[in-house]
Amino acid sequence: MRAEIIAVGTELLLGQIVNTNAQFLSQRLAELGVDVYYQTVVGDNEERLKQAIRIAQSRADIVIFTGGLGPTMDDLTRDALAAQLGLGIEMHEPTLAKIEAMFAGREPSLIEINRRQAMLVAGATPLRNDAGLAIGGALTAEDGTHYMLLPGPPREMKPMFLGDGAAWLRDRLGRADALHSAMLRFCGIGESALEELYKDLIKAQTDPTLATYAKEGEVTLRVSTKADTEEEALRKLEPTLQEIRRRGERYLYAESDIALEAEVIRLLTEQRRTISCAESCTGGLIATLLTTVPGSADAFLGGVVSYSNPVKRDLLGVDPSLLEGEGAPGAVSEETAMAMAEGIRSAANTDLALSATGVAGPASSEGKPVGLVYIGIAERGQPPRAEKLQLQGDREGIRIRAAKRALYMAWLRLKGKA
Ligand code: ATP
Ligand code: MG
Repeated sequence: MRAEIIAVGTELLLGQIVNTNAQFLSQRLAELGVDVYYQTVVGDNEERLKQAIRIAQSRADIVIFTGGLGPTMDDLTRDALAAQLGLGIEMHEPTLAKIEAMFAGREPSLIEINRRQAMLVAGATPLRNDAGLAIGGALTAEDGTHYMLLPGPPREMKPMFLGDGAAWLRDRLGRADALHSAMLRFCGIGESALEELYKDLIKAQTDPTLATYAKEGEVTLRVSTKADTEEEALRKLEPTLQEIRRRGERYLYAESDIALEAEVIRLLTEQRRTISCAESCTGGLIATLLTTVPGSADAFLGGVVSYSNPVKRDLLGVDPSLLEGEGAPGAVSEETAMAMAEGIRSAANTDLALSATGVAGPASSEGKPVGLVYIGIAERGQPPRAEKLQLQGDREGIRIRAAKRALYMAWLRLKGKA
């Protein structure tokens, strides 16, 4: 089934609010196996709203509205839909009773205004609103198109959709429509390199389908199929998953929705090992990521933000001759990255340690280019190592990519891949 989401509200068109409702609904519909082909935004204007409905009617099987169910004159969605479908409006008595009770003893005109929120397109199935007053509605028109009306405020819209809305929709979907997908999480590889790795699979895709999604130094690959049952879906997905695993062995860190830092903490905990970090250009980001993970305290012991040379020297014991002077490699160098990692490892007495030193920009430093970053890794009983990176992006982008790359190096080590 093909769906269209119509978000109603002039404030969306003015850029005053972000259309998070469309994002939420698109995600939920994808989980239900409904293909969202269009997201439309239209202002609080009856003519343009009717026009949007006509267009949606011609190209979608399911049309979901958010917004414009409230009490004021600019809340037009239900009137516009009823008019467009040639249907009347009826009162939903339980909601009216709720409104009357709420405004009892107050200005009678308040009840008059709020009565609008108890109105339904004639024949629509009411959708409960536990977080507000406006009743939602769902109906199937004569031509078979399904319509759903949801309120604008996300705190009302979400529970309504997750409750009555999704249940109503599910009853109208064929079982073979149910979408099953595997989420594969990759690190240490960019989105385009990942697409290159799986080019043939992505090109040939009809079933299962593959889609990549990049976010701050990590890439997610979603592999989906439609099937009647979970078992059948797994059977259909398995050959593709096996091929993906085989080729992506060095990058695939999880087959569930888990962040890289959480996987690193999980492995450290499982192996009863500890980690610390010394950070220059990442300014504490590696430590921040690791400590976002609940229960990280057993594995992550601490870190130093060694932004200046004296701190690198005095707190981490980096040899001053590496940092300054004629012919010194400098703060941004492989040698310094290794010395920082080993320095914090021995100071914090951890099994592993990570370091990052580089030029996050916007200006170059030590005559070195923006994006040049060295990541160091130290391990008890082994010589430290460092990796040179030339990262793209603005200051924030470089910092987050450097931090994720450091975590990737820890992951490789913990998996015995490096
Ligand atoms: P109300 O009873 O509050 O008037 P409503 O159903 O009429 O509800 P709107 O008037 O369109 O909805 O929007 C009310 C508020 O809900 C907006 O000011 C905004 O904060 C939020 N909202 C509306 N549409 C969206 C959207 N698409 N995404 C995120 N938030 C939204
Ligand atoms: Mg409103």
